[in-house]
Amino acid sequence: MIQNVLVLGAGSAGLLAAITLRKKLPALTVTLVRSSDIGVIGVGEGTTPNMPGFLFGYLGLSQKRFYEQAEPTWKLGIRFLWGPREYFDFSFSHQVDRQWKNLPRSNGFYTDEDFRGVSIGSALMDATKAFPRSSRMLGMPDMSVSFGFHIENVKLVQTLESIALELGVNFVEGKVSGTERGPKGVAALCLEDGRRLEAELFVDSSGFRSELLGRALGEEFQDYQRALFCDRAVVGGWDRTTEPTLPYTVAETMEAGWAWQIDHEHHIN
Ligand SMILES: Cc1cc2nc3c(=O)[nH]c(=O)nc-3n(C[C@H](O)[C@H](O)[C@H](O)COP(=O)(O)OP(=O)(O)OC[C@H]3O[C@@H](n4cnc5c(N)ncnc54)[C@H](O)[C@@H]3O)c2cc1C
Repeated sequence: MIQNVLVLGAGSAGLLAAITLRKKLPALTVTLVRSSDIGVIGVGEGTTPNMPGFLFGYLGLSQKRFYEQAEPTWKLGIRFLWGPREYFDFSFSHQVDRQWKNLPRSNGFYTDEDFRGVSIGSALMDATKAFPRSSRMLGMPDMSVSFGFHIENVKLVQTLESIALELGVNFVEGKVSGTERGPKGVAALCLEDGRRLEAELFVDSSGFRSELLGRALGEEFQDYQRALFCDRAVVGGWDRTTEPTLPYTVAETMEAGWAWQIDHEHHIN
């Protein structure tokens, strides 16, 4: 039986892995190794509805606590500034593929050129609103619409770290400089300061460095560079003044790629 799991990396991937293991298999001892010299990637600001579904549904984490600490804004979809229409709202809720009971065909059949408000999600996007008011609890937002988050990676990582600590994940600060191989693959991690960490199962969440899968086990990295039109990103932004907070990501076609606008509470990236 596996009793000790070692997760390498404390970015969003490693923390989610460690939290999930402790939540679902509390008998496991979970240790997480990370290096503050290397740090986390620190970008990545838009999610799909899988993220709230996973955090609050599958893991049962407190929404109140998550909203207070991670300060996400709500994202109902993506507004594409692209194509012959002024814009095209792709909402996370079913739109063209939805069929109302009283209509013989699905929504897409009736939309034609005017594509606004095809679903509740895209109607809200059009009105720059995140949620309708609940008819049951007056004044409260009705959060049953499909949503994801705009969330700053650093705040997400801080929030997940505090949750992981509360769930009893052990944190080890140190830089992995090598591995020891055993008959079943990786047997131990060697840290720069000479420490040696054993476990029965290792999870590689070291990001682009791919310390265990890539360096130790020689797993090939499949990159899609040859098929990409653009493989660079430039990140920038400005502080919010009077702009309304958009409940969607804006993706604007440029001559060679896209410009994404992501709305946080106090600034826009
Ligand atoms: C410009 C840009 C925009 C993006 N936008 C989005 C987006 O909108 N939505 C989205 O979902 N994703 C986005 N991404 C991707 C997303 O940011 C990353 O996939 C994700 O944050 C990676 O998290 P991670 O935990 O895998 O890696 P990292 O955050 O890189 O964490 C790696 C961890 O491993 C540790 N580590 C590595 N090597 C060692 C070692 N030798 N010893 C000890 N510790 C080690 C590090 O200290 C760190 O804790 C974007 C990425 C970029 C570059």
